Amino acid sequence: MSEEPAPLRATGIDQSFGDVEVLSDVSLSVDRGEVAAIVGPNGSGKSTLLRILAGISPPDDGTVTVPADAGGARSLGFLPQRPAFREGFTARDTLGFYAQLLDGVDNEDVAETLDLVGLAGVADRAVGSLSGGMTRLLGLGQAVLGDPAVLILDEPGSGLDPAMVERLFGIVGNLAADGTAIVVASHELPAVEAHADTVFLLDEGDFLASGSPTALLEETGTETLSEAFLQIVGTRAGETTVRAGVGRRANETETGGKRDDE
Ligand code: ADP
Ligand code: MG
Repeated sequence: MSEEPAPLRATGIDQSFGDVEVLSDVSLSVDRGEVAAIVGPNGSGKSTLLRILAGISPPDDGTVTVPADAGGARSLGFLPQRPAFREGFTARDTLGFYAQLLDGVDNEDVAETLDLVGLAGVADRAVGSLSGGMTRLLGLGQAVLGDPAVLILDEPGSGLDPAMVERLFGIVGNLAADGTAIVVASHELPAVEAHADTVFLLDEGDFLASGSPTALLEETGTETLSEAFLQIVGTRAGETTVRAGVGRRANETETGGKRDDE
């Protein structure tokens, strides 16, 4: 038995929706203290993968193992891409509600979490009156409550101003420094470049590239992660920029898989 819990590990994940294959034999592992960023075009399967990693939906095939809780009240925290909170609750009551669901998490932890995500000053405002950025931070608070060993965040920075994105990734970096294993899907490539230890570029059903930001720049001969992304993913003339799935099984004709909501 080692002192350190095993990393988050996914092996051979397959996922299709109807005839559309979204994930094909995807594997990854994330260690304690590691920030792993999942980047990729809209519709490439990031949210699907994160829901599978979080145990929200079982994959068609493959396995996910999450370390047993490392002293926290739960082993895994998850921020969905579209978290839904009750508008009439205050920020404090919202986290208080989630705290009730977790053993050993009390009002003091709620106050600490509000402080951690920078919402202490608006703790008693109704969620419905919070800005979009504050609501995202509340979502982060919900995910980190109970000190999970694994934190899975689906586009926590989308819609945030650059300062807020920096703040969010700063919090993520601090949590990793405390030993949390973090998986974050994000389109904020400058922040990913600055804060992620490992980048997984998801497209066409699997990772087209993975490695440290520096390694990806070296591999592609580019100066920024955004350039590396564009070079690897490419732009396909005549196609929409969203992905409609890797491929279709036999007898399937072309269908629109476009989603315009992200
Ligand atoms: P991303 O998060 O990278 O934008 P998603 O994982 O949300 O991508 O979606 C990947 C693909 O899977 C898209 O084509 C999407 O329409 C499809 N998809 C996701 N969830 C479902 C579902 N529950 N039923 C059918 N198709 C889905
Ligand atoms: Mg998504």
